[in-house]
Amino acid sequence: MRIVQIAAEFAPIAKAGGLGEVVLGLSRELGAQHHSVDIIIPKYSLIDPKTLQQLKMEIADFRCQEKGQPISNAMWSANAQDCSLHLLEARHPAGYFHRDRIYGFADDAARFLYFSRAAMEYLKLKNEPIDVLHLHDWHAAACAVILKDLLSREIKVKSVVYTIHNLEYQGKCAAHDLDAIGLSGSSYLTSARLQDPDSRYPHTINLMKGGIVYADAVNTVSPTYAKEILTPKRGYGLAPFLKKAKLIGILNGIDAAIWNSATDPMLAGRYSADDSSAKIVKAKNANKELFKKRYSLDGQNRPLIGAVTRLAPQKGTDLLLAAVEQTLDAGGSFVLLASTPVPEIRRQFEQLKELYKNNPRVLLQYEYNEELAHQIYAALDFLLVPSLSEPCGLTQLIALRYGTIPIVRATGGLKDTVFDCEDGKVPLEQRNGFVFYEPTAPALNSVILRALNMYKTDHATHLTILRRAMRCDYSWKQPAQEYLKLYRKMHSAKPKISEHLTAIS
Ligand code: ADP
Repeated sequence: MRIVQIAAEFAPIAKAGGLGEVVLGLSRELGAQHHSVDIIIPKYSLIDPKTLQQLKMEIADFRCQEKGQPISNAMWSANAQDCSLHLLEARHPAGYFHRDRIYGFADDAARFLYFSRAAMEYLKLKNEPIDVLHLHDWHAAACAVILKDLLSREIKVKSVVYTIHNLEYQGKCAAHDLDAIGLSGSSYLTSARLQDPDSRYPHTINLMKGGIVYADAVNTVSPTYAKEILTPKRGYGLAPFLKKAKLIGILNGIDAAIWNSATDPMLAGRYSADDSSAKIVKAKNANKELFKKRYSLDGQNRPLIGAVTRLAPQKGTDLLLAAVEQTLDAGGSFVLLASTPVPEIRRQFEQLKELYKNNPRVLLQYEYNEELAHQIYAALDFLLVPSLSEPCGLTQLIALRYGTIPIVRATGGLKDTVFDCEDGKVPLEQRNGFVFYEPTAPALNSVILRALNMYKTDHATHLTILRRAMRCDYSWKQPAQEYLKLYRKMHSAKPKISEHLTAIS
């Protein structure tokens, strides 16, 4: 099949979180199964050209209108991580992709609408038939609208698949933002099209909804999250449209070559699920000791709990704040690697840092650091993921592979991948971590006490769970098969948009 992926991120060169990892992992696996995959992302100035191989200009100059003004673009092609990338260089006066980060700007909607339009203009110029146009999250959702309403004759696409990585970010904007890229904005302010489902804002355009109603198939990144967002409470008013789109959940994987504790060049000690317990423990200890030394952490042999996360309310930031003291009280040490664009949350965590600045059992590191993340996954004994909502979650999957036992709240993909070691309803072989249910400090405290108690008093059980965790297969093999099944199903189905527009008229 010839598959084109359009997204805002691609790991690790332009990554803000799970989205970039998924586009990378899925594309690599589809490529390994001999499908042709091309990935289109913006050419952010923050991309280090040294991370790209065979970088060359593919199209030196093609125009794209914004607010009636022609803007010049170039398309670059390159290889990265065995994937074929196409990087859109927008020579836009507002420097749309010349910023210090990927998102978090007042003009994000305009930036990604422009990207969507330019990406589709590029596909029009290429004039090559496409089996599956796979769009990711609201940033690329408008491509489905542009294709079906403006360019369906010019671009030969058999089907459009839209993947929701996080329903909390929907790309809300005004009708004039659509006008800017050549769509007639006001005509989309209807319930059947892109009007925001919140009846208080009838003049708001919702790009996420555009992806849902215009794509031929819609999925999200875990079966439990797919069920959760079909409920009124978690669906942000989009649940009826998701139901109509026959939303399905396909669990994310992690790239088994990049997240591999047996070969990871960033680790001091390497180990695999096939090694003896003694070898695994020795290697993990080497990582832990080096890490503690590097950051002048307490030298005693204590359980090390930590988290690697974006700090946003959905990640359970209040619980993370509480976890530090709870871990210390229970005799452990705590490590947090995190970053946040939210000023209020940043203030809270800066205060936390001030509070523990002289405590050698706490490391609070506020930066985005890929190498440090690898080292932390290997050094920790337990990874905490206390999310209030979690579409899939990748950090618990990485932790499992690195023999770090996850402690998670039962929500979304966390519920699909981590099973409590004391849960008698789950087959023994699947019990790979600790799970708590209520998003409260007492529930968190009790799970931390359970985990640390096991670490301190029952080494044999701790080792059994650690080994079980490492044997879990959350690679892309199975998820890629499910995506292929979805792609193939689309080929035999009638395009949904025709039914949809017939229904409107
Ligand atoms: P998100 O909702 O942020 O996408 P996921 O769990 O799906 O959450 O993916 C998070 C990804 O980002 C993981 O690969 C994790 O290792 C990485 N990550 C998160 N925060 C940091 C950080 N501060 N430094 C390095 N990597 C990080």
